[in-house]
Order: sequence, then structure tokens, then C-alpha cells
Amino acid sequence: MQHYFAQRLFDGSTVKQNQLIKVNKGSIHSIESSQPLNQAIQLNGLVVPGFVDVQVNGGGGVLFNNHPSAETLVTMSRAHQQFGSTAILPTLITDDLATMQSAAHAVASAMEQKVPGIVGIHFEGPHLSQPKKGIHPQQHIRHISPAEMALFTRQDLGVVCVTLAPENVSIESIEELVSAKVKVCLGHSNASAQQTQAALNAGATGFTHLFNAMSPLQSRAAGMVGAALLDSSSYCGLIVDHEHVDIPSCQLAIKCKTPERIMLVTDAMSHVGSDQIALEFAGMQIHRQGNKLTIEGGRLAGSALDMATAVRNSIVDLGCAVEDALKMASATPAAFLGLQQQKGALAAGFDADWVVLTDQYQVDATYIAGQHVSA
Ligand SMILES: [Zn+2]
Repeated sequence: MQHYFAQRLFDGSTVKQNQLIKVNKGSIHSIESSQPLNQAIQLNGLVVPGFVDVQVNGGGGVLFNNHPSAETLVTMSRAHQQFGSTAILPTLITDDLATMQSAAHAVASAMEQKVPGIVGIHFEGPHLSQPKKGIHPQQHIRHISPAEMALFTRQDLGVVCVTLAPENVSIESIEELVSAKVKVCLGHSNASAQQTQAALNAGATGFTHLFNAMSPLQSRAAGMVGAALLDSSSYCGLIVDHEHVDIPSCQLAIKCKTPERIMLVTDAMSHVGSDQIALEFAGMQIHRQGNKLTIEGGRLAGSALDMATAVRNSIVDLGCAVEDALKMASATPAAFLGLQQQKGALAAGFDADWVVLTDQYQVDATYIAGQHVSA
């Protein structure tokens, strides 16, 4: 049994002082109020539940699509651990079937080897809308076939999330995915509010990067954005890097959906945790300028955002309460993934995954399963 002493600890709902955390085999055995204990490992700062990021394309200089291997997943996870992420869904952008299969194979072996921080896979595409494709390679956008259905419904990949455009995928296919426990997210889509609602009725539970690459809210056409904001039970990923979504739009989304339904996501490319500037993907040159990643012509190409920055941006620029920002980075995405009994809170029975934050909400240290993994 390992002992840790936290001066301040956010357990997922409230901040407590002077807490002794006992960890057994990677899980929290107990947390209780205590006098400072010298024998315990001291955690100096605010100890908060580890961040859960459901959309991570790359990190540490590697992009999952370009190198779909288990080694890449280790590099990506380590890169994001520096910024407080203790659970990520490696995300494959639209690609050919062979690359999708390599990615699945990589995640299956990472799950088997228990690579810290890898909890599943997110297939973003290929069943998307051409007009809302963003940087997804046009030639690989296609209808769903038995081959992809078989891949998505594999049982050895941890949590599987699929982003699809509901106007291009049948209700029956969505129901089949949902019944195989796949988390269906709607996005890169031109669907009407009615089509979106039909997909929600069929069991879709998420929206991928709300506002970006989806039909907007208009007076006589509520679009996917309108349907997403109106629906109270689904979860929305939100990229709070101030490049993808205007600050008032972020505030509006949080007001409509509540912090229990907005998930901070990075949509990070390979740049996070590296000093990389240029990246090639599917024949496109992606360039970094400050915090912005674009292809020629100025279209956004993922982000250079990390979770700790997303949390700080939410607190400092959106005016979120600290507890709400932390929820959007941990408890809410954990609930979306169905991991609410393991992650997103610090309490007996939960995974010993936490981040130690400074007063400026910078990451001082990250722990996964009670092990110090970064900083
Ligand atoms: Zn996207």
C-alpha cells in the first residue's frame, strides 16, 4: 500500500484540505482527512482527477495516422501526460481500411500490454460528409461496409468511439454500432436538426468538436449545432483553444449543455509535447503558427492544444468555476466513455490517476495508477 499526502484535493465535486490517499495495486483504497504525514509522498499543490481526452490525433512529434503502431501510442500518451492527461482515445482521422486495421491492431496490443493512458480508440470518419470534411482526405470518405462494421465492433479495443455524419449512415447501422457498445459521435456533418435528432434517438450520445465542421444554428434551420445544444443528455466535445470556437460560443454551449455535458478535448496533432512546426498528412502540409495549425489556404487542421491549457483557458477566459473546468476535463468525458466508476473522481475504488496543479493551473506532476509518470 502506498501513501500520498495532498494539501489540497479536488475529489471531483469539492476541494478538501489535508487528505491522505492510500493506493493499492493502482487503485485508490481510501482517502481521508489526516494530519500531515511525513512517511507519505507529499503532493504539493492542488490534486485533481486526471484529465480524460477523447480526441487525440497525435503528440510528441508523431501523428497516429502516419505511424499507426503501439510505439506511437506510447509516445502520444507520454506527450499528453506532461499536460495532465491520464486517459486518452487515440484518434484516427479518415483513412483507408488497411490503416484503420493497423490502428486497431496497435490499440489492441496497447490494451493488452496495459500501456498507461490508452483506454480505447476513436475513429473520426471515414463515414463523413464531403462538404464538411475539413482536412479529412476526400478520397477516403465513404459509406460504411461490413469490413468497417467488423472493425468498429471488435471487443479487444477498449472503448471504441466512432464519429460519423448521420446523413450518410443508416439508422440501422447506428443502432448496430450502439448495440455493440460503440460510442457514436456525430460530426463532420451537414445533417439537419431532424436527421441529428433521429441519430440521437438511435443511440448516438456525442458530438465531435461542437460548432466545427457541422451544420450551424440558423433562424430557419437549427442544424446539428441547434440539435446538439437543445438535447440535454448527449455530450459535446469542445476545443477551447480560442482558434476553433469564439469565446461567447463556448460560454453559450456550456450554459446550454452544463459542465456535465461539455467535454474539453484537444483534437491535438503531433505538435503537442514537441517543438515541431511542419507536418505532412495525406499529401497536405500542415503548418504551425503560434497555437494555430493550418493547411495552405488557412483551413484549420486540428490543434496544438493540450488539456492543461484547455482547463486554464476555460477558467481564465471563459470565466468557468475551477470545479466546472476540471469536471469538463475529467468527470464528464469519463462519464461519456462509460468509465465513471474508474475515472473522473478521486475516491475509494477509483483508479489512482491524478494531476498535481500549481496555483496557476500548470501541471506539476501526473500520476497514473499511483505511479509518477511525468514532470
Ligand atoms: Zn474533426
